[in-house]
Amino acid sequence: MDPTASTNPKEITVRREKREVHIRWQDGHESVYGFDLLRRECPCALCNDERSKQAAPGGLSLTLLTGPIVKAGEIQVAEVKPVGRYAINFVWSDGHDSGIYSYTFLREACPCVTCRGTR
Ligand SMILES: [Zn+2]
Ligand SMILES: [Zn+2]
Repeated sequence: MDPTASTNPKEITVRREKREVHIRWQDGHESVYGFDLLRRECPCALCNDERSKQAAPGGLSLTLLTGPIVKAGEIQVAEVKPVGRYAINFVWSDGHDSGIYSYTFLREACPCVTCRGTR
């Protein structure tokens, strides 16, 4: 089998009304990601920084809020753009737009029971 089939999407569907992103991969696997999960796992440098600060025990937490505050459960995808052939970029309804979600990252983040079981 083509080794890249598992990290190449065949079809990406963004279901705003269900707040889910469906990806069908070329190897036949299907992944469903909630918007909350994708926003929380945003791979950009800013969010990585934010997460490591929150994880630091006893660390001073300084949160700078820019733009409208959107609670978990309310986040929406404002826009989805392909980035080359390897990633997609989500623009979130809180104005955050620097997350580049590579297909490798997305496949690894697949929240289904089968994938979680192999990790
Ligand atoms: Zn981010
Ligand atoms: Zn999976």
